[in-house]
Amino acid sequence: MRTSNLLLATTKETPADASIVSHQLMLRAGLIRKLAAGLYSWLPLGLRVLRKVEHIVRDEMNKSGAQEVLMPMVQPATLWQESERWNKYGAELLRIEDRHHNHFCLGPTHEEVITDLIRNEIRSYKQLPATFYQIQTKFRDEIRPRFGIMRAREFVMKDAYSFHSDAASLSETYTLMHQTYHAIFTRIGLTFRAVEADSGSIGGKRSHEFHVLAESGEDAIAFSKQSDYAANVELASTLLDDTVNTSGKAVLQKIPTPDQRSIDEVSQFLHIPPQQCIKTLLVKGATEVTPVIALLLRGDHELNTIKAEKLDLIASPLRWVDEQDIQEIIHCNAGFIGPIGLSIPIIADYATLQCSDFVCGANEDNMHYQGVNWERDLPIPTIADLRNVQANDPSPDGKGVLEIKRGIEVGHIFQLGDTYSKAMQASILNEQGKTTIMTMGCYGIGISRVVAASIEQNYDEKGIIWPLAIAPFQIVLIPMNMHKSQRLRTAIEDLYKAFIDAGMEILLDDRKERAGVMFSDADLIGIPHRLVLGERGLDKGMIEHKTRTTDTTEEIPLAQIVTILKEKLA
Ligand code: ATP
Ligand code: MG
Repeated sequence: MRTSNLLLATTKETPADASIVSHQLMLRAGLIRKLAAGLYSWLPLGLRVLRKVEHIVRDEMNKSGAQEVLMPMVQPATLWQESERWNKYGAELLRIEDRHHNHFCLGPTHEEVITDLIRNEIRSYKQLPATFYQIQTKFRDEIRPRFGIMRAREFVMKDAYSFHSDAASLSETYTLMHQTYHAIFTRIGLTFRAVEADSGSIGGKRSHEFHVLAESGEDAIAFSKQSDYAANVELASTLLDDTVNTSGKAVLQKIPTPDQRSIDEVSQFLHIPPQQCIKTLLVKGATEVTPVIALLLRGDHELNTIKAEKLDLIASPLRWVDEQDIQEIIHCNAGFIGPIGLSIPIIADYATLQCSDFVCGANEDNMHYQGVNWERDLPIPTIADLRNVQANDPSPDGKGVLEIKRGIEVGHIFQLGDTYSKAMQASILNEQGKTTIMTMGCYGIGISRVVAASIEQNYDEKGIIWPLAIAPFQIVLIPMNMHKSQRLRTAIEDLYKAFIDAGMEILLDDRKERAGVMFSDADLIGIPHRLVLGERGLDKGMIEHKTRTTDTTEEIPLAQIVTILKEKLA
């Protein structure tokens, strides 16, 4: 393609409303434009990248034996009522009504539609296992669309669904999809990790997320440096050691701590490390019998809300008890609550058991206890894994210690089991001729998010650095003063044609621009290989080559450049 024929919409200014690098660069490089909150148009250059990601995903999915389908984006409410998600899904589901007052939604995902399709098409175990996928637009009315296409409301997803007559077959396809995702992200050229994940509102049993590692990632993921343990911090369990530290000798004392509410304030005031404090948090209980539950955590630890809301006693989603209710129930400010003498159910995190001579609130304003010890001063409550893992925690598999890195979730695979097939009566006749409910898996990739994630992982001060496999063009050809030399123009046109004939994707910058402008645009849009030819090079029969990531240029004989680059790009 020629730049004269391309909407090359690059800008120098960093857009004010873009807070992360990929969003800034996608706007500056002219890949996307905002229409409204969370809605973006893809410009020609951006769409080339998106299509390349799609192509790789499609190719690997086909190789895995999955079959491509395309389902409507508009979905009838009746199906969502059958699966009981019409009410459960919440405000992310954009509900609409047609002229006949029938209710529909814009598909945020397609479990209902595919299950409906397959229950009508597949009748026998002989037709299973089967995996179907589509690459399609999804709509989720995200509460805070942000970071451009990274968290948009309308975005492109590859979603796949597998159907099985038993769990063993699901397990096999799950492994195959895991391998397929590995192949996809490797081929795209990203540094990624598969991590164990929470299966969230979608239900089901096993699940893995695929994360592109990048500082700006919204998710924290925990790895063992010594083993292949990797899990989202949402899920990563801590070492469940329930030994109680009874070595404390200090005298239990109630002491004044005027206005010292937070752990930081209390530990500074008493000159003790935060690890020696235990904090008490009040959350809503799951039933009216126990409307309020107290959670105990070591001062330096953070509550993991996902772990907490999975406990039977605790309301899901997790809800805090407000300040006014705390006053009514405990008769003190939230900063002074403590477990001694507390008459509501208490759940303590494992790590609190290792604390001795600790400090906690005294359920009285401006007062704390110090020198507190388990068993002597208070009974051991119910214990649970309540906290987020931290760097240097022992790995839950017992091998080494954890390291925490940031990741961007680009893919998610789930073993759904029979959640949808049961609710929607998707059954087959099994080998014994008996009607049985199918078992399902589902597998998503955020195609458009992959584009942004790739930029977050690969950029420099000049702009985007595309992995070769998804670059909008592999090569950019920049002529020096072509408009003043017919001889150069002819040579450039011949070269351009030779690259095209060789099946390579080349962008010819035929604008009447200064060299500096063409160079900085080529860097900003991230083309992996740059070729520069002027009259002097033509005289010598040499062309200048540089890759996007090196600072030095090399001279290559003009006569061999197509062959040499073809080898480099292979
Ligand atoms: P997240 O936790 O980021 O909201 P999710 O768990 O809701 O993701 P899934 O339902 O598993 O996501 O969707 C499959 C994939 O679609 C995700 O792995 C992600 O890459 C992508 N995705 C999800 N929501 C968005 C969004 N709002 N914008 C762009 N891509 C998204
Ligand atoms: Mg989501």
